[in-house]
Amino acid sequence: MTWLKRLIIVFVLLDNFLLNFPKKILFKSRWVLAGKCKQCGKCCEEIYLKMTPNQISSKFFTNLAIRWISWLFDFILIRVEQDAGYLVFTCKHRLRDGRCGNYFWRPNICRNYPLVDYFEEPKMLPDCGFTAKLRH
Ligand code: SF4
Ligand code: SF4
Repeated sequence: MTWLKRLIIVFVLLDNFLLNFPKKILFKSRWVLAGKCKQCGKCCEEIYLKMTPNQISSKFFTNLAIRWISWLFDFILIRVEQDAGYLVFTCKHRLRDGRCGNYFWRPNICRNYPLVDYFEEPKMLPDCGFTAKLRH
């Protein structure tokens, strides 16, 4: 079923492109990303996916989301943070040296990390190669 996963990911990537293209041209964020990835893989150890209170209070929806994300992205559930509303995953493709073993087909959450289009100052992991600067 790898072909099906890849076909779905192509649509997801297209969706990501259509979402990010106007942001780059028309709706620029206050923050600009500087630096570059050191490929340490720390951001792949624990991947936090936010759910709404309604979503996480539904066992059916939560299980469906866990199955879908695990299948599509090859993520592995570590825990559910019920109160904070997070599903926390790790990834099968993280190599021992921290690099990505599925770089070409990596999901949007990986492509868009670290996100800087928030009003608050973005927070990076310690020793991350990226920093965020205010746009002049
Ligand atoms: S924590 Fe930062 S430097 Fe390390 S892999 Fe993630 S983005 Fe790259
Ligand atoms: S697909 Fe690659 S970049 Fe994304 S979480 Fe897995 S190892 Fe990290």
